[in-house]
Amino acid sequence: MLPKYKDIVELLKKGSTIEAQEQIMDLREGALELQEENYELKEKIRDLEAKLKATEDWSIEKSRYALVNPWRGAAQVYALKESSSDGEQAHFICPNCFQNTTKTILVPVREPKNGDALMNCPACKASINTGYSGIGAAEYAEKFLEKANK
Ligand SMILES: [Zn+2]
Repeated sequence: MLPKYKDIVELLKKGSTIEAQEQIMDLREGALELQEENYELKEKIRDLEAKLKATEDWSIEKSRYALVNPWRGAAQVYALKESSSDGEQAHFICPNCFQNTTKTILVPVREPKNGDALMNCPACKASINTGYSGIGAAEYAEKFLEKANK
């Protein structure tokens, strides 16, 4: 508990200057502690605001994509929705990276042994076998979503 200003004034009125001085010292110390605490809290708020902003940004970014099955089999990727492409070319995003709130565009590669068309992630090294020997250019999510709903 910090000494009260009113009590210090009372002490001074009574002529208890030493006791008053002690309380003033306590008050100063308390003020410094509060200042420090205030600074730390401001830092914490700044960090949390930055995190919140990143989360909000990611949820906007995330909503531009849909999980699709563009090929035979169960292989899934995130595809850009044409409705939110804003002129950006169609592309596929690594589902593994996507779960970790990062976007990595998959790179088409040919499997050297059997010639299967793979989609590789340069970031997490995930490799998705499309089950095809060749695949065309990436397409927007809507195309695959329509197919799935038929
Ligand atoms: Zn990845």
